[in-house]
Amino acid sequence: MRGRWRKRGAKALAHPPGLIRRLLERLRGREQLLIRPPAGLPLLLVTYPRGRQDVARLLEIAYTHTLPSLAPRILEPYAPALAMLPPIVVVLLRPENPCGCLGHWHPPGTESRVARRLAADLASPVAEIDLAYEAIRRWEPQPLASLAAGEEAGAIADIHYEAALLAVLVHELDHLARPQAREREIRSASNEFYAAIMRELVLGATGRDYGMIAEPRRAGR
Ligand SMILES: [Zn+2]
Ligand SMILES: [Zn+2]
Repeated sequence: MRGRWRKRGAKALAHPPGLIRRLLERLRGREQLLIRPPAGLPLLLVTYPRGRQDVARLLEIAYTHTLPSLAPRILEPYAPALAMLPPIVVVLLRPENPCGCLGHWHPPGTESRVARRLAADLASPVAEIDLAYEAIRRWEPQPLASLAAGEEAGAIADIHYEAALLAVLVHELDHLARPQAREREIRSASNEFYAAIMRELVLGATGRDYGMIAEPRRAGR
């Protein structure tokens, strides 16, 4: 079984080993969701506070449906970095980080017990990041309120949340893949990525151009 995890792609991931299930049963107070990846991306093992399945499912929709549906040029700049990632990335979802960051990548050796045990059991590297989903929801790289009013405002807030989750996710994956790269470089790529997703999805939903009024801000490392 173990060798299968070195391969990428849906076929290799069709039947998660029973040992993942056994490992997950040991976690208390948290629930897990295994997100099957689109081609060329790592499988995500999401762990989230009990009762917050809605956030994990939103991340699943963003990763498995929205991301592959975007114009290929949007994800293209990330392709080389994403191809360097291990086949499994653990994603720790928390409402907030005590430091206020939207997310972190966990350098090798600093992963949680979950990721370390999984790596040992699978005899394969497992990377790890965390995402602060409430902080990400509140993150406003640009004042969204100015974009729309009424029903449209709600739709745009939903689009923003999905785009922001994807942008912070990809930001941290980029760090994992390129640990030597500077924050400024990683951030400018993820800001562009966020803006490109917003442009495409807002145009699709409202027929209007999202436009870029100012440089998006980002908290985190
Ligand atoms: Zn932090
Ligand atoms: Zn960063």
